[in-house]
Amino acid sequence: MAQRLITRTIANELAEFGTSLGADSGTTCTICMGEIVERTTLDKCGHSFCRTCLDQAFQVKQVCPVCRMVYGHMMVEPSPIYSKLQHFIH
Ligand SMILES: [Zn+2]
Ligand SMILES: [Zn+2]
Repeated sequence: MAQRLITRTIANELAEFGTSLGADSGTTCTICMGEIVERTTLDKCGHSFCRTCLDQAFQVKQVCPVCRMVYGHMMVEPSPIYSKLQHFIH
């Protein structure tokens, strides 16, 4: 009889714990201000966004929309390829 009571209490506590986890502010996407869909976490700074939101943001600039951490490789030196092409043309 007593055992049954204890089991019930634990079940209630687990249910409450689950509810508090669901209210975690970390599930909100700072780009669309909605709940994160297909959660994608940036490996350097740990900020999370919807996959589609992050894709769109990275198309503009490959930086974290929250802390401006730089991601991806910016190809700012196309000259070696350009000179090769020139050589090919001549
Ligand atoms: Zn989003
Ligand atoms: Zn960040």
